[in-house]
Amino acid sequence: MGGMTVETILGRMFIDGNWERGERERFRVVNPANGQQVGDAPIASDEDVARAIDAASRAFRGWSGLPAEDRSKYLHAIADEVMNQIDDLARMVTLEQGKPYNEARAEVKYGADFWRWYAEEARRVYGEIVPAPRGRRIAVIKQPTGVTAAITPWNFPSSMVSRKLAPALAAGNTVILKPAEQTPLSAVLLFEIFEKVGLPEGVANLVTGRPEHIGGILMNDFRVRHVTFTGSTEVGLLLAKQAAAQLKRVSLELGGHAPIIVFADADLDLAVEQILASKLRNMGQACISANRLLVEGPIAEDFHSKLASRLESLRIGDGSVDGVQVGPVIDEQSFNKISSQVDEAKNEGAHILVGGERWLGSTEGYFYRPTLVTEVTPAMRLFREETFGPVLASTVFHSEQEAILLANDCTYGLASYLFTPDIDKATRVSEALEFGVVGINNALPMAAQAPWGGWKLSGVGREGGHWGIDEFLETKYLSIGVTEQTR
Ligand code: ADP
Repeated sequence: MGGMTVETILGRMFIDGNWERGERERFRVVNPANGQQVGDAPIASDEDVARAIDAASRAFRGWSGLPAEDRSKYLHAIADEVMNQIDDLARMVTLEQGKPYNEARAEVKYGADFWRWYAEEARRVYGEIVPAPRGRRIAVIKQPTGVTAAITPWNFPSSMVSRKLAPALAAGNTVILKPAEQTPLSAVLLFEIFEKVGLPEGVANLVTGRPEHIGGILMNDFRVRHVTFTGSTEVGLLLAKQAAAQLKRVSLELGGHAPIIVFADADLDLAVEQILASKLRNMGQACISANRLLVEGPIAEDFHSKLASRLESLRIGDGSVDGVQVGPVIDEQSFNKISSQVDEAKNEGAHILVGGERWLGSTEGYFYRPTLVTEVTPAMRLFREETFGPVLASTVFHSEQEAILLANDCTYGLASYLFTPDIDKATRVSEALEFGVVGINNALPMAAQAPWGGWKLSGVGREGGHWGIDEFLETKYLSIGVTEQTR
């Protein structure tokens, strides 16, 4: 496909089964590749958010009361329709978020995987029967937590919505979604699909607008019993504090600062390709993105130069153009954060092997060149803070123990990676890493069937697999009195 035409898209909210454009204030949605307006979306009023909560709580009884098989059918229909519309959904992701079109397709497919997986998982919410004292029976059943608020980020504007809404709906919960203000339009397309498959009114509601405002109302309403959030650690901590006041359940998928350990015995070509794929997917704007490269002394120079020459060879540009491998970062604020971290490291003695500056191939958009910084020390901000850009920060280590210490020297604990063919070493190191995900000779661990989530400041709870639906279920214990008959 060639360049895409930019039409202005009118975002809408979806409340209680109705589309609402409203005569309200609106906010602009821009294409990060050229700064042009893609569309806009309404700013929800207090009353809009309250109506969405009312609708979700009214719909809860009916939706949670459906046989699992019926909910499963809706989810299968959504999965089918997402795949039917993959071209349009992917085009929208590229337009409002900037990633290359092929990656956008992969994202939409990844979202469909969640609809499919939870369509199946809905039917496997098993309970347990436990041996009981005389005169009783003990049964344990799982039931939906209730009305769920879902707040999603801009980096994966389609799949993050699917990853949350699929298990929530499968479990029998009803939902109010607030997508990120940079990327509300991908969510609108998904809600058009919900309407098309006939999801009952009020089961899924979409509100857009000012995050603190909408968040405040959702978090203050006791009927909302669960908040599931993906985004920054800063906002996640705020939501956790707000949730504590009403003891709402929280599922938080927050920042990461993934270490990637390359031992001297690793297959270096494999490691280079995997690191590139991990680092440059979505221009490094992923919480599982490989950030802190830890390379064993004897191979460091060779490895850095292999990596640098591959980084130099990548094609940068508007993600809608064929063959582009690296798009823009989301906005000016992100761009400035990336460049200030790199500039600071340079001033403090790190060495820029490749990149380290704006890409000059376009005068518009927020393009940062894929970058490799070496001689990074743990004192530097580049080592300590999540970068969220196409930058690899490399530090050399000299023993297995040092690699583990460096990797764990971090307040985050989402993804980590290591490369070595030595199974003993891989086992020891993966057990010592304080992270929720460890990639062993693999830096692309995404899969709907696996548990995603972080340790430390990377979050609480898991998304994906059978663990993902548990987040949306309460446990109920039935103590049943039984009059015993003598046999
Ligand atoms: P980033 O810094 O990557 O944009 P954020 O954590 O700010 O990540 O955003 C993730 C999601 O959280 C977005 O949907 C955003 O609108 C929302 N958000 C931001 N601030 C708040 C808040 N105070 N309350 C609720 N949601 C918020």
